Amino acid sequence: MKKLAYYLNPVTRLGIRKYSFLFPLLFNISLCIVSEVYAYGIAKNPNSVGSYIIFLNVFSIIYFSFRDGIRGGVIAVAVTIFYYFYIIHTRGYTGVQWDTAFETTLILAALYLLLGGTIGWLKQRIDMLIGTETQARHLAEEGKIRLQTILDQLPVGVLLADVQEKKLEGNKQIEKILGKPIRGNLNRSPDYKSPYAYAFEKALSPKEWPIVRALVKGEIVNSEEIEFIRNDKKHLHLRVNAAPIRNKSNAILAAVSTIYDITQEKELEHRKDDFVNMASHELKTPITSMKLYIDLLKKRMTDVDERSEKIVDSIQKQTERLHELVNDLLDVSRIQTGKLHFRKEEFILNTLIGETIDVLQETTKNQQIIFTGKDTIFVYADRFRVYQVITNLLTNAIKYSPSGSNIIVHIQKMEGKIVVSVADKGIGIDPTQRTKIFERLYQVTDPKEKTFPGLGMGLYISKEIVKRHRGNIWVEGEKGKGSTFYFSLPTKKIH
Ligand code: ADP
Repeated sequence: MKKLAYYLNPVTRLGIRKYSFLFPLLFNISLCIVSEVYAYGIAKNPNSVGSYIIFLNVFSIIYFSFRDGIRGGVIAVAVTIFYYFYIIHTRGYTGVQWDTAFETTLILAALYLLLGGTIGWLKQRIDMLIGTETQARHLAEEGKIRLQTILDQLPVGVLLADVQEKKLEGNKQIEKILGKPIRGNLNRSPDYKSPYAYAFEKALSPKEWPIVRALVKGEIVNSEEIEFIRNDKKHLHLRVNAAPIRNKSNAILAAVSTIYDITQEKELEHRKDDFVNMASHELKTPITSMKLYIDLLKKRMTDVDERSEKIVDSIQKQTERLHELVNDLLDVSRIQTGKLHFRKEEFILNTLIGETIDVLQETTKNQQIIFTGKDTIFVYADRFRVYQVITNLLTNAIKYSPSGSNIIVHIQKMEGKIVVSVADKGIGIDPTQRTKIFERLYQVTDPKEKTFPGLGMGLYISKEIVKRHRGNIWVEGEKGKGSTFYFSLPTKKIH
């Protein structure tokens, strides 16, 4: 029954471009035969056909052109007109009567063709539009499935917030990381300022996630680390990126976020830091004793040959170097664990710089360190830690510049702060490395610079010291033309 209704109802066939040939042909021929049987058999008046047949034919043309397009309409018209000629022929018309009937049939043929053709053409256009739309929908659905499969295969968590579809979705990995299915409706927000925060809070946690900022403010978030406590109480460390997706007129349509679970990495790093901390503590005690014994040995060395004296001096220098390295390692792990403490006081900075230069000038005969600061400048800082920063900048300037070049140290007083600069004429730093060199254990990986000894801790420690004094540290200069390092410190106590 359903099949029959589908076959006969032209509306259910909209969008299907399968047009029948036999059905309209047989139906219209049958209509003519029934009409003839009625006229001759039932009405017993061959001329009674004209009164109702036009009505039936018009209906049939409309029906078939709407059901089977131009083809259906043309078949219905052809059979009808053929039948009209058959009537003219069989009813014995002559003279004017024949002429009128013939002309009327021709006019009707033109009108029927126009009717059937127009409806048929419209029907075919509708079918085409529906077909294209269905195809596009299928394609979009297929694309979605494909994208979802790709996303599910990724080893990284992906979140997608779609403003148009008002949906928050995630891939398999994000559900594994966060331990719950991520699905939200972006519609449910009672909060005007951050319209989507509510949905995210429900789905994720009570924190403004980078994806919310990307969606609401259009922010691009790069490698932000956030902590997340899962329902099973596991503490996670996540590295999150997020970006808005905009249309051509720059309106935000959606936002996408990738989330890496770096908990294991963090734990490993933690264990490594613990190990470095322990190892440097363990190393510090024997090195301090070694230093003391070497001092003692030097004092007791009278009447020894020059060669032995040189050997002991060299041992002393190397032990000093070892001592500095262990101290740096300890400082790095203090920074990592938040245990780098300061004893701040007011002191004259240029005196400290002058003294440090005197000590370091001793270590290099070929380079001249020139200090231009003469005015007395007070700063409020940890004297030893500031000494450490100046020493680090100066030893680097000595290490990374050729012999015979000068190193210039300058102090500039500004409102509420002073800026110290250390300029050298050495190998310089590429602009892309200017911020990286202040990162922990970072060293420029230029094969030509491999020859310089070091571990990449000095600038990291200096940066932390300056930062904790609410100052700044930065570098200027060009590769091959030398560099100038700057750091600033407050002149007054800041609470
Ligand atoms: P280290 O000198 O022990 O390698 P630092 O943290 O002091 O570590 O410096 C990090 C990196 O910055 C160095 O490896 C070097 O490549 C670069 N650098 C530091 N100071 C200078 C300088 N004055 N000129 C050129 N490069 C420098």
